[in-house]
Amino acid sequence: MSPVTAADRRRVLDAVPTGLFIGGSWGPAGDGGTFDVHDPATGEVLVSVADATPEDGLRALDAAVAAQAAWAATAPRERSEVLRRAFDLLRERADDLALLMTLEMGKPLAESRGEVAYGGEFVRWFSEEAVRVTGRYGTNPEGTGRTTVLHRPVGPCLLITPWNFPLAMATRKIAPALAAGCTVVVKPAEQTPLTTLAFTAILAEAGLPDGVVQIVPTTRAADVTGPLIDDPRLRKLSFTGSTPVGSQLLRQAATHVLRTSMELGGNAPFLVFEDADLDAAVTGALQAKFRNVGQACTAANRFFVHERVVDAFVDRVAEAVRGYRVGAGTDDGVDIGPLIDDRAVDKAAALVDDAVRRGAEVVVGGERLDGPGTFYAPTVVRDVAPGSEILRTEIFGPVLTVVPFADEDEAVRLANDTEYGLVAYAFTRDRARGQRLAERLETGMLGLDVGVVSNASAPFGGVKESGLGREGGSEGIHEYLETTYVMTPDPFGA
Ligand code: NAD
Repeated sequence: MSPVTAADRRRVLDAVPTGLFIGGSWGPAGDGGTFDVHDPATGEVLVSVADATPEDGLRALDAAVAAQAAWAATAPRERSEVLRRAFDLLRERADDLALLMTLEMGKPLAESRGEVAYGGEFVRWFSEEAVRVTGRYGTNPEGTGRTTVLHRPVGPCLLITPWNFPLAMATRKIAPALAAGCTVVVKPAEQTPLTTLAFTAILAEAGLPDGVVQIVPTTRAADVTGPLIDDPRLRKLSFTGSTPVGSQLLRQAATHVLRTSMELGGNAPFLVFEDADLDAAVTGALQAKFRNVGQACTAANRFFVHERVVDAFVDRVAEAVRGYRVGAGTDDGVDIGPLIDDRAVDKAAALVDDAVRRGAEVVVGGERLDGPGTFYAPTVVRDVAPGSEILRTEIFGPVLTVVPFADEDEAVRLANDTEYGLVAYAFTRDRARGQRLAERLETGMLGLDVGVVSNASAPFGGVKESGLGREGGSEGIHEYLETTYVMTPDPFGA
């Protein structure tokens, strides 16, 4: 690819809509307020975006409510084709969207291209699922009646997304909601609203009727979303973000027994057994840790490595990490971009410092890097002591922590010793052990001999405090469908 020029940046930033999108029109916030979106690689302001007020949020819900009945009645094939056209447009504009994403979020361009492809797959997948919603018909056990089960759209939804995957976290919600026949209000993360705004424009261009999708970027997340969650016209809340915020939203959602999907934090264990293919384990470890600069809910947070292979594993990951190039995601050949903001750098630094105070050894990295921009060196820390904060907390940064173990029981005990349960990874050549792990690890997803599990065709989601519900797969659309059952008499009966 040719290097990114100032003209490329300007073109991409000039093209992105910066208003609120409500009822099919772009417009300013009710009070005219705006907020700045920054480039984390430089700290520069990229562009200013309308800052929705609570009244704007309610206007967006009004528009979603008004459009709900017509969208639910739209033929599934028509809904499917709007999504399919949006997928085609996403593919056509992949390079510009990837650049926009790197500018606002920081990850290397190659990874942003990967996210555009991954995020697009949800749009394609749910364009296909839109026409496959079926019910069932059967005879009751007594033989006295017939049961019919049908599915209907839930109704207007509020979708709240995080900053770390600005396209995929939005498409993973918007596409199944639209496929199911729901209208939506989207509240993107304030750090990275631009990619979602660009995707909203693509949906409109693809022929989505007015009022089906609204987007309300805001710096007052709770003030804008609170009244919507309290409004009985809202029928569904789907949230991706941190566990503390998810837990607070669940309490709010309890008032009207609002249906919720919660994709929350993770603390993924990565197990390397003595019989693992070490080449594959090292490759998988680097993907599971350093993808997205470590800022993924699926990022491996704790590496448990059998004591017989731990030295070889550490040597090999450390060698790879020493070769990483750190810099702006738009620069050629960069492996590790900036973290999202100063707080993220402070957090990584504090966690590593605590681990070191408790006896861990820094093998590579372990330091903040000078600005501009918010960088932390890719780091490997070994022999992390039990009780260290870094084993309990989602690091959300490029820090790989290693803890040795002696046998399978100990590995499983260590892996499950967390309130989270989103994803786990395990490398072993022993198939029976792989199956045992699938049954013993407290996790929603398991990567067995792979370092990346995300796929639009699979049910993504967690157990324990990592969340409720699933996104993607044939399960994903059912998060946006109600089930109604109809009982009728035996049509052959007297
Ligand atoms: P966050 O919880 O701070 O924010 C997520 C979203 O919620 C943002 O849009 C934010 O503005 C909004 N928000 C914050 N406080 C709110 C409130 N009181 N009321 C309503 N909305 C509120 O999370 P983040 O820092 O943006 O994202 C990182 C977190 O997301 C990590 O914990 C990560 O594991 C998690 N995550 C989970 C998944 C998953 O699928 N399980 C995927 C990506 C990220």
